[in-house]
Parts: sequence; structure tokens; C-alpha cells
Amino acid sequence: MDLENSIYGYLHEGGEIVPKEDKQIQYKGGQQKGMYIGQRMSYAEFVSKACERLDINSNGYTFHYTLEFDPSALQQLDDDEDMHMMLSHSYDYARIYVLKRTRRVEVEGGIVNVQNDYCHNSTEEIHNSVASCQVNNESNLGLSQGFMSRCAETEVIPHDLSLCPQPIIGSGHSFPNADEFRNALYTMSLVGRFQYKFKKNSPKRIYVCCLVDGCPWRITANSVGTTKILKVNIFIDVHNHCANVECSSQPSMRGRRGARVIEQVIRATPQYLPRQICKDFRSRYGVSLSYKQAWTYKEMAKERIYGLPENSYMLLPWLCQRLVDINPGTIAEYSTQDGHFWQLFIAHSFSIQGFLMGCRPVIAIDSTHLSGPYRGSLFSTTAYDADDGMFPIAFGVVSSENYEDWLWFLQKLKGILQDKEVVIISDRHQAILRSVSQLFGVENHAYCYRHVKENFSSYVTKHSMKGKKCKMDAFLLLDNVAYARLDDDYVVAMEKLKTYNSDLAKWVEENSPQHWAMSKFAKKRWDKMTTNLAESFNAWLKEERHYTIFNLVMTHMDKFAHLACDHMGSIENWKAAIGPKTEEKLLENIIKSGSLPVYPYVGGVFKVFNMKVYVDVNLRERTCTCKAWQMAGIPCEHACAAIRQMKQDVYEYVDSYFKLPMQELIYSGHFNSIPNHNMPIVDVDGCVRDAQGRLYPSLKPPCSKRPPGRPRHRRIESQFSSKRLIFCSRCQVAGHNRASCKNPLPAP
Ligand SMILES: [Zn+2]
Ligand SMILES: [Zn+2]
Ligand SMILES: [Zn+2]
Repeated sequence: MDLENSIYGYLHEGGEIVPKEDKQIQYKGGQQKGMYIGQRMSYAEFVSKACERLDINSNGYTFHYTLEFDPSALQQLDDDEDMHMMLSHSYDYARIYVLKRTRRVEVEGGIVNVQNDYCHNSTEEIHNSVASCQVNNESNLGLSQGFMSRCAETEVIPHDLSLCPQPIIGSGHSFPNADEFRNALYTMSLVGRFQYKFKKNSPKRIYVCCLVDGCPWRITANSVGTTKILKVNIFIDVHNHCANVECSSQPSMRGRRGARVIEQVIRATPQYLPRQICKDFRSRYGVSLSYKQAWTYKEMAKERIYGLPENSYMLLPWLCQRLVDINPGTIAEYSTQDGHFWQLFIAHSFSIQGFLMGCRPVIAIDSTHLSGPYRGSLFSTTAYDADDGMFPIAFGVVSSENYEDWLWFLQKLKGILQDKEVVIISDRHQAILRSVSQLFGVENHAYCYRHVKENFSSYVTKHSMKGKKCKMDAFLLLDNVAYARLDDDYVVAMEKLKTYNSDLAKWVEENSPQHWAMSKFAKKRWDKMTTNLAESFNAWLKEERHYTIFNLVMTHMDKFAHLACDHMGSIENWKAAIGPKTEEKLLENIIKSGSLPVYPYVGGVFKVFNMKVYVDVNLRERTCTCKAWQMAGIPCEHACAAIRQMKQDVYEYVDSYFKLPMQELIYSGHFNSIPNHNMPIVDVDGCVRDAQGRLYPSLKPPCSKRPPGRPRHRRIESQFSSKRLIFCSRCQVAGHNRASCKNPLPAP
């Protein structure tokens, strides 16, 4: 097992998740075991290893995990994609909870409840089968839920419908209105697998009978007085079908009602896949849905939950104005094309102030796709707080990822940074390259090393370097080039690469090492090599990508407030003047410094022997000739050796960006939420109006709608982060397998 590239999985099984006051997840009882999880481990491999460790049978268990940056959010661990999510966002460990499938886990207001399954209603059952662990994102965020239902203008589904064991109990059972009755009827036909027809179908009176000739099954319902309430009058719940009819009978599918059946599931599990919907309908009701039908149901259910996507754009002008009113200093701006929405930029005053006052001037930028009917991209900019926690600065929604969009977005970003000089880390998207160098200066643009390595990897593959071993060697040599801090070390590393394969060395020279190799990058980047942080942001907003733009903005706000509270709260866990992550790095250097001989010179200068060469540490200027101290802001092992020798306080020498007062400053701002009692709605005439009849400006949805065809929900991710590298067993080349091999083999 390659320990370098694995994380420690802390497994919990057999006990219970109990709510804790600070909303963290606490696990009581049962057994806890540890296991190493390699970066490339597949989900299946993981399940079998974990079950082996715990000595359980994998049947009947579901897996969940929490991440360090939000330990209160229990995430599902169901497939390779989840596996990748967990691995790429865990620094060195992950907590994994193994739960019995019969239990339902709910997070209500941040409090986790585990309860035994008690409900046998059809809707709920399908619910449990797909989402035995429902981690409700919105329930954490009571406020935005309020917004959603207002936006959607649908009442929350009456709970008695979803909880009663039978949709229709018998005569006397009443329903709020005819539509609810029809829904219950539909659910009933699904469960009973029969078809029905309406003999009479009005809001006042409904008469339904079975489609099979001569079958006595029937139900009638009448309205109560002048109300909309419908009460069941006659209910004969007996079918009389002959065997061949019974055998071939199938409930009919009705789009809108079908959507209602899965609505509860979508509410709890927005990522409920159409594929899974098909499967569940087949196993539960014996109904075969096409993929397209399932997809349509899902879209309809989403519309009911989140409101019409186009209405969401209409309310955007009001929302932007409110954001600024409620938190002065916030930048919430949008641009339009002929009255159609085009681009959105939001930076809360809390973020702007926090970043300007206390964050290191390094920003990771990234984009991810949105999945609503209008698609588009979500742009994000993220910084680090004093203990390397994620600190979102701004985000944007744009229609594409072209130069125009990036330029517009980054101009807004530059506007909020005032004159602060920052280093921008990003991938090498052409539009980003152009706009960043234009606005922030080409010398301030650092390329994400992980992305560089991916490009390098495909180059290696294309040039048919044989075998996995060779590839790993090439990566190692590239790492040495990238992480060399001194010019001399860079030259040596390049020489080694050239000796290994001169084409690879040439590739490095042609791929602007001045933007990613440590020794070549002129500006201080605090040892930040990748955009992993920005990708944590994407993972953090994974579900919200399915929301409408309005709900995306609202939930982001709620989640951000939650995150800020968490980070502020965790200051209490700081044992010293610096946070735990910084402490860990410092400790590592102190341990390494243990045996290094130190020779004091004059004026705070020390000569330290690092077992190969002598380096010069200057305690007054806080530098070391190894350059690690000035690059990272944390004393290197040589500096630690000198500080030890002088019996000085090592914390004194850590950059103040990492210290407690800075963290307090970052989170010192005010952040108010938006009350929604005076929120306007989209009126029947299509105007945006509030309760007093005041009109508000509105926006039309973006011009471009999603192109036809099956929508892509799974983000196409880079080779490094998601796909396992495959090697052909026939020709040993990476990127294809034996079955698809087209390479000629040398004659024997
Ligand atoms: Zn019948
Ligand atoms: Zn040093
Ligand atoms: Zn091959």
C-alpha cells in the first residue's frame, strides 16, 4: 500500500448517530476500525475491504462519510463518483459511517436523527429504497426552504398523505382538494397495479371505476358544502379480474402524477438519477419507464419543488437589490442582453471585507457546469483563511465559459480587491489565460500543477511510453522539477528528466514552467500549487447546481453563513497562536530539525548543516537560503533548528497571516440574512409584484436553452481526478483496454 497516496478511513459501525449540540455528528457505541484507502481504490474494492475489516456482510448496509470542512453534512458513499469526491476532499482522513439499510437518517435543522423505518406508504417506500440515508440539504436551511416554496407557489405536501399506510382508507376519508384526491388515487393504482377511468371528473364530484369490464372496484367522492374539500363517499376496494387480465395488467403512467410520486424523493435526494427512477418503478410497481419518461418526471418534480426556472430569473433584480440593502458593501450585479439574463456576479460584503483584511493574497478560480434547463456555468473564486480553511470570495453565473464571460467576471473581482495585488491560480483554459494576464498581470498567474500534470500525462501516453512503471517514473521526475525551490535544483531536476527522455524535458520547456514550477514563479504564492480549494467549493455546492438561479444564490448564502460560523467556532480548538493545520506543518519541520547542527554567525544569521550542504538562516529577516521559509511563511526545518538553539518562541516566527488575530479579523464582519415576508412574486399576468401591488423590474431567462438530447449530469472530469488510469494488457499503453486496442504489436 502506497501510504503517501492514501488516506486513513475511520470506520464506524453498529452504533448510533446521535445529535450533538454543535450540530457535529457524533457516533455512539458499536465498533470503530481503521483502514487505508488508496487514491485509486474503486468503490467495490472499498466496500469489500471495509466489510472485511468490520467483519460484516455488505448486504443491507449503506455507506456515508463526512468531510473535514463540514463535519455536520453526512454524504452518501454509493459509487465511484462519491468515492472520488471523498478522496479528493479529505486531507488525510475521512470518517465513514456504515449504517443498516432499514434505518432512515434525517438531518433536521442540522440535527441528525436516525429512526427505524415505520412507514409503509408507497411514496415513502420508494423513498427508502433509493435514499435510505436522506440528508436533506435544505432542512438545514429553513429560510431558503421558505423561499423555495414561495418561489414555487406550491404548498408543502400534507404530511398525512405521505404517512398514512394507504393512500385512500375508505369512505369518509377527506382530501384538501380534488387534485390531492387524484394523486392518492394514482398512487393507489400504482400499488394495486390496475388501471382506472373517470366516469365523472370535476372539482365537486369524482366518480372512478376500474378499467376492466365487470369489475366491481369503484370510488366516488363529493365536495363538502361549498369548500374545496373532497370526501370519499362510496369505496368498493375489491377487484374481480380473470387470470389473463390480471397477468397482463399494468398501471398506466400519467406524467404529472408520476412526478408527484417521486417528488418527496427528489426533495431529499436531488441527485436521484433517472436510471434509478426507472429501476425503482420497475421493482416497486412493475412499470417500465423509458429513460426519457423518468427524466421528464424528475424535471416536473423539480419544477414543483424549486419553482419555474424562468420565474427564478424574473425575481433576480429584486434579489440583487435586497442583497445590497441588507448587507451594504455587497456587490450583486447582473448584465443583460435585450432584457434576457446574461451574467451574474455576487460577492457578499462579509467575504470582501474578510478577504481584504486577513486572507493571504492567493485566489483559486474555477468553473463548473450548472444543470438546470438553462445550463450555464458557475464561476467561483476562493481564498484561504488563516488556517487554510475554504473562504469563498465571490461567485458568478454565466451562460458559457468564453473569454467575454471570464473577462466580465474577473473585472468585477478586480473591482472588489481594490488595489491589493493577488496571485491567481487556475487551470489553463484559454479564456482564463487571456483575461487573467490582461487584468492581473501575466506574472501573477499561477497554473494549477495538477492540471499541468494531467496534460503532461496525456503527452506521455500519446508518445507511447510503455507501462505503468515508466509513467510513474516520469511523474516523479516532473514533481522534482515542479517542487524544486532553488534554481540550481530545478536545473538538476531538468537534467535528470532530459536524460530519462529528452522529449519530456522539451515538453516542460514549451509549457511555461514560469507559471507553475516553484523556483520559476516570481511571486509569493504561499506554497499553493493547485486549485483543489476551488474544487472543494464545487463539491460544497454540488447539489445546488441542480437548483434554479434564485435558489442557488439563496442556498449559497445560507451555506456560507453556516461555514463561517463553523470556522469561527473552531477557533476554540486552536491550541496555540496558530490553527491546527498550520501547527501540523510547523511540527513536521520541528521534528525534522532535531538533528541538524547549527553554527551561530553574527547578526541573527545561522549556518545550518542539512546533512548535504550548509544553508544560511537569517532570523531577523526571516529567510533561509533553502527558500522554504519565505515561500510558505512558516519556518523551515533549518530555521526551526536555529530557533531551538536560541531557545526562542517558534510561534513568533510564523507569519502573522496564520495567527489567531488574523482569523478573528477574517470572520469579524456582519452577515445578515434576507427576510422574505415582503418578497414579491411572479403574478398571473407575468409581472413581478409584492403584496402591496408594487411592481419590480424583471428579467427574461437567458436566450440559450439547453440543447435537446439527454442532459449530462455527471461532470466530465479530468483524468486525474475521476477516471482510474487503465492500461492495455496487450500493448501496455495507457488510455484504452485490450478490447479496444488498435496498436500493432511487433512481430515475434
Ligand atoms: Zn378491477
Ligand atoms: Zn531552510
Ligand atoms: Zn493496446
